Amino acid sequence: MTLRLYNTLTKQEEPFAALDEANRRVSFYSCGPTVYDFAHIGNFRSFLNADVLRRTLELLGYEVRHVMNITDVGHMTDDAVADGSGEDKMQLAAKRLLEDKKSGKLPTDAKDIDPNDPYAVADFYTHAFLDDARSLGLRIAHEVQDAPELMPRATAYVPAMVEMIQTLMDKGHAYVADDGVVYFDVQSFEEYGKLSGNTPDRIRSGEGGRVDEATQAIKRHPADFMLWKPDPTHLMRWPSPWGEGYPGWHIECSVMAGSLLGEEIDLHSGGEDNIFPHHECEIAQSCCATGKPQFARYWFHTRFLIVEGEKMSKSKGNFFTVRDLIAKGATPAAIRLELIKTHYRSNANFTFQGLQNAQRQIERWAKLEQWLRMYQDRPLPGSLTAEGGGPLRMALPAFQEALKADLNVAGAIGVLSEAASKHAVGGDPPQGDGGATYGDELEALHTMNTVLGVLDLQREAIRGDDDERDLIEAKIAQRNAARANKDWTAADAARDELLEMGIAIKDGPEGTTWSRIVK
Ligand code: AMP
Ligand code: ZN
Repeated sequence: MTLRLYNTLTKQEEPFAALDEANRRVSFYSCGPTVYDFAHIGNFRSFLNADVLRRTLELLGYEVRHVMNITDVGHMTDDAVADGSGEDKMQLAAKRLLEDKKSGKLPTDAKDIDPNDPYAVADFYTHAFLDDARSLGLRIAHEVQDAPELMPRATAYVPAMVEMIQTLMDKGHAYVADDGVVYFDVQSFEEYGKLSGNTPDRIRSGEGGRVDEATQAIKRHPADFMLWKPDPTHLMRWPSPWGEGYPGWHIECSVMAGSLLGEEIDLHSGGEDNIFPHHECEIAQSCCATGKPQFARYWFHTRFLIVEGEKMSKSKGNFFTVRDLIAKGATPAAIRLELIKTHYRSNANFTFQGLQNAQRQIERWAKLEQWLRMYQDRPLPGSLTAEGGGPLRMALPAFQEALKADLNVAGAIGVLSEAASKHAVGGDPPQGDGGATYGDELEALHTMNTVLGVLDLQREAIRGDDDERDLIEAKIAQRNAARANKDWTAADAARDELLEMGIAIKDGPEGTTWSRIVK
């Protein structure tokens, strides 16, 4: 079976075929963060699902050119109405930092930022985003160290945006309204509304999308959206034929995707709130500017991460950042697994219990990995091999099939766990006399981990704190020795000391295992 993906554009699951299928090359554009604050784990749910899709394509033998932009200008607080009303989020961040500086509330690592310099503000949050993205194993965040063009900043592409707006003006798809703002004329593009269902007619009748009252009289149609806003007072501004000002948020992505990946691309991703207006507007701009019937072939959207029934968002204040969770004792590997394990087209509900379960799951896999490595040269016994391979090796096709079924990550995890349970981890393993080895099983586990991406993060977390790990292992050994001597008081004291360090222990068939308590 080939990979099947749900395409928001056609509203059905479709077999995936790349434009350049012959060379197995895929072009993939992901809408990245607006760098006006720390990204929250809701944002990361979208970015991580895009990462899982990319890794799945790579596992299937595709070479993926993945671009994720950084929005550092033009994303307005009122972006639902798509016409430049509201305030630029970067400008807002600069103001907030200035206030925080005055009241002494500034994060310690942001002390040197000049809040009047929006580039410095954007830079600070871009680096924070990259640190978090690397800690969660986003491949693009590692790749960008050698290929910075893969994470373009919108501010570096403004002249190209002016050029595209000019093309749209020349082709009759854009106009300057009485307020001096350049708008896209949605009625000039027949397919407007195809992605989201918000056609110009539905919008006019008030059924699709929100409209802004203030600009209703100025625009040709309430759904027309801003391409360029002349504003000599805006902190970040550029020259243009329509006056000094700044670009709209949607034009940024059309330009960066077109410049870095080509006029027609394979995949485009974002969170569900990007479908309208952002992606609907991107399609209109790109198709009208290039004259091509299609911009992106497959549209991939992740549903929201919710907390107690509500979307996790900055404006609601019900959000956690990666840093918040790490400060509470969560590991990046557990955060990653918790954010990818629910199907991307269902809402995921964030809970600390879920995080704790993810941590335990990863510790079981990490133990399995260590154990397989220890006995990697030993041949597997006949009782564990079917058709020449061990349980993990033989589960690889089912693991891939689950991912190919519209990225069924939970199914893939189930396949891995079931195969892993066939090994009696911890003890001296049974051996056979030839054929497959425990090392082959280790290799199969690593293949599965190329998509899940958690074992490497877990190893990093452990390596990061060798001393603490040694201390934990020593305390567990002390407790078990005390138990063996029936010295219950000493055993309980050692366990309590571990609890105080934030470590919970559990006795099981694999010996004593430990995990961090997530507060
Ligand atoms: P922003 O930084 O606001 O531009 O958002 C970055 C990405 O996160 C966008 O693709 C959003 O659609 C996505 N996003 C925002 N909130 C959530 C959420 N609660 N769950 C999943 N994705 C989200
Ligand atoms: Zn975008």
